[in-house]
Amino acid sequence: MASGRVALVTGGSRGIGASIALRLAAEGVDVAVTYERAADRAAEVVRRVEAAGRRGLAIRADSADAEQVVAAVEETVKVFGRIDVLVNNAGIYQAAPVEELTAADVDRMLAIHVRAVVLATGAAVRSMAPGGRIISIGSNLAERATVPGTALYAAGKSALTGFTRALAREVGGRGITAVVVHPGSTDTDMNPASSEYAAEQIAVTALERFNGPGDIAATVAFLAGEGGRNITGTAITVDAGANA
Ligand code: NDP
Repeated sequence: MASGRVALVTGGSRGIGASIALRLAAEGVDVAVTYERAADRAAEVVRRVEAAGRRGLAIRADSADAEQVVAAVEETVKVFGRIDVLVNNAGIYQAAPVEELTAADVDRMLAIHVRAVVLATGAAVRSMAPGGRIISIGSNLAERATVPGTALYAAGKSALTGFTRALAREVGGRGITAVVVHPGSTDTDMNPASSEYAAEQIAVTALERFNGPGDIAATVAFLAGEGGRNITGTAITVDAGANA
């Protein structure tokens, strides 16, 4: 990937986001990450980005807070001068029967998974140069519901596919692409491969395995680089064949 490029990865302190940040840094990209609480983990990601010879930046920004989301984009542009790759990754998981969901549950889930993505994208594309990439992390549950209790989570994640298709039409003329990556079960704090729920998730995959965070990071790095030049307005599922 051309060096001198700058990425902002939301929720980059742990899990998939941290892996994406480190992978992009290894490919020559300066990387800012946001986090909500884990300042120490975010600082460690920045230390490793810098050890790879790139500039790193950790920004505390709660994705549920619209102003903090936009401020994080603006701070990245202020410090690094530009954003070439925005990775909308920050996310939460909540499983509950639909009749038990409160308005607060719905507002929080959609604020983090949809509103933050729309606002961060809007703020980033304002100054994005041709070759820019908007990559949003969805979920394979957006395409196929395998277990009950995931209706709200799936609603938020599937919103990203419509957003991304329309966004691709809007920014394509400026040479900017928009893609969703739908991970399947991925070994992180959110969904540990050592949990009691892991076996049933592995059982539905074609490859009989969990993703590692690096599997998602490798796909994002591909899309962020030359390989993603003509991929836009679509979604790529990385789920070891769970939805096959
Ligand atoms: P983790 O729980 O391991 O990490 C979540 C990351 O998001 C952390 O960096 C966390 O920050 C950050 N985050 C959470 N809430 C907020 C918030 N309100 N504001 C800012 N940052 C926030 O999750 P994963 O790495 O597993 O998930 C990453 C993405 O991948 C999510 O969008 C998730 O929905 C999606 N996904 C995950 C799958 C899986 O099986 N793991 C499967 C399909 C999709 P902090 O450290 O400060 O808490």
